[in-house]
Amino acid sequence: MRFKDLSQLKRPKPLEITLGSLPQHILMAEYAKHRAFKINELVGVLFEESFEWYGFTLAHKDHPELIIDIGLPHNDLNLQDYTTLGSERIAEFQELLTEDLIINGWIHSHGALNYRHFSNIDEKNHFTVLDFVAARTRKPLAKKEISIQDLVLLEKDRFVEKDLEKGSVCLITDGPITEAKIMETVYGSFCYSIVIGDEGWHEQEIHCRERGILSGHMIVRSKAADIEFVDTGRSLTRLDISELSDEVEEKIKPRTDPPPELIERM
Ligand SMILES: [Zn+2]
Repeated sequence: MRFKDLSQLKRPKPLEITLGSLPQHILMAEYAKHRAFKINELVGVLFEESFEWYGFTLAHKDHPELIIDIGLPHNDLNLQDYTTLGSERIAEFQELLTEDLIINGWIHSHGALNYRHFSNIDEKNHFTVLDFVAARTRKPLAKKEISIQDLVLLEKDRFVEKDLEKGSVCLITDGPITEAKIMETVYGSFCYSIVIGDEGWHEQEIHCRERGILSGHMIVRSKAADIEFVDTGRSLTRLDISELSDEVEEKIKPRTDPPPELIERM
């Protein structure tokens, strides 16, 4: 057999239909931003010293892309516990939230340090958070054809065991068919990571995971992202600040004896 054009040999591209997309940049309510930087300020005021803390970014479950608030868990003094920000700890915090709120990422402060990017340990924490929040931020991104070489079509009640030895996948239908496409849903999840400093700077990334429900094919990627601050009509009131101050005092404890690894860790 001869081909006039070699392009005829190419396998047809699998069919793909887009159903949705993951956020390309971060949306954050002005209120949440002010709250984050207010925590930095309160730490300085209450403990007369600047140091790091971490919290979770929160969203309404019907709008997981928009950060509307900052949740402050009990911050650990213990070096080991903090570096391994575990899913149990995140779960504990999620349980305290009202049902309409979800965690969609994490935020931490490098305090007065001028270290304006994520550290290696931060990178590990991103994926711990992503693992935890993935189920809550999950949405269908596409229907994608799974190319199956050697698909065998069988008819219900009309095949014998021997027929099952053939092919890589078999599709059993209730009527005679000659052709079938198998389309799987590709689900996507995301989480946000934000790092801030006392001087007002912030850096942020989006971490995404895409997974084919049938093939199990998974892609995980991270990218630096812009942040868009949104006026949601809510502002940080005196009462909010006073309550936040109590929360900071209760949940963030100054490290009286900073371990030498502190800088390296951040
Ligand atoms: Zn850090």
